[in-house]
Amino acid sequence: MIIQNIRAITEQIIAAAHHANRNPSDITLIAVTKTHPPDVIMQAVAAGLHHLGENRVQEADEKITALAAERARLRWHLIGHLQSNKAKRAAHLFDMIHSLDSVALAERLNRHRAALEAVPPLPVLLQVNISGEDTKEGFAMRPDPTSARLDAFVQAVAAIAALPALDVQGLMTIAPYSDEPEQARPVFAALRTLRDQLRQHCPNLALPHLSMGMTNDFTVAIEEGATFVRVGRAIFGERPPLH
Ligand SMILES: *Cc1c(COP(=O)(O)O)cnc(C)c1O
Repeated sequence: MIIQNIRAITEQIIAAAHHANRNPSDITLIAVTKTHPPDVIMQAVAAGLHHLGENRVQEADEKITALAAERARLRWHLIGHLQSNKAKRAAHLFDMIHSLDSVALAERLNRHRAALEAVPPLPVLLQVNISGEDTKEGFAMRPDPTSARLDAFVQAVAAIAALPALDVQGLMTIAPYSDEPEQARPVFAALRTLRDQLRQHCPNLALPHLSMGMTNDFTVAIEEGATFVRVGRAIFGERPPLH
């Protein structure tokens, strides 16, 4: 069943990319594996998915250990909020952090990453709260931000980009939950616009990545420029509630 789900999602990704005149190979499907045990995760890996997303450091740590034999071919993404007391472990465990949401957290991650031997800078995405929902983590932004708000964000991005053990690669957002995927489109379009504005202010930052789109809205996110889509339920089925 997982393999059929992945096949169907891959076809939808290709169709959405073609619809937007994009190259499907520019879009990476992250299998969101939270709540699922290693044997279930291995079914997705066997079906060809090597990018895995977890939202809790402790839970990821256990699975990364259980799947240590596969470590070289897997890419583990932290997609959930990172508490500062977990920054040290996260700097060691993950291949990419999607949920960087403050300069202070970035400084902590940088310090811990720099202390590791022989590792490249840690790729990070800055999480942005575009929709203004106060339940969402991330740098507070709005569609059409005021110039003061945009300036403050540019300053934060520049400060993080100056940290040598981090590699700022783009932005991430979570759209408000809706059964109607079109509701998410303005949020995704606003994230892309924000990325383009950042590029103008920080010309030495390429910011190639936009992490946006989940089970309900990943095709719309691809049409709006997503390079990472984070999909859980469409691959593995419904999770137990409260996760
Ligand atoms: C759980 C989660 C996802 C996946 O959500 P689905 O609806 O299961 O596809 C994506 N991104 C984040 C940040 C999540 O916490």
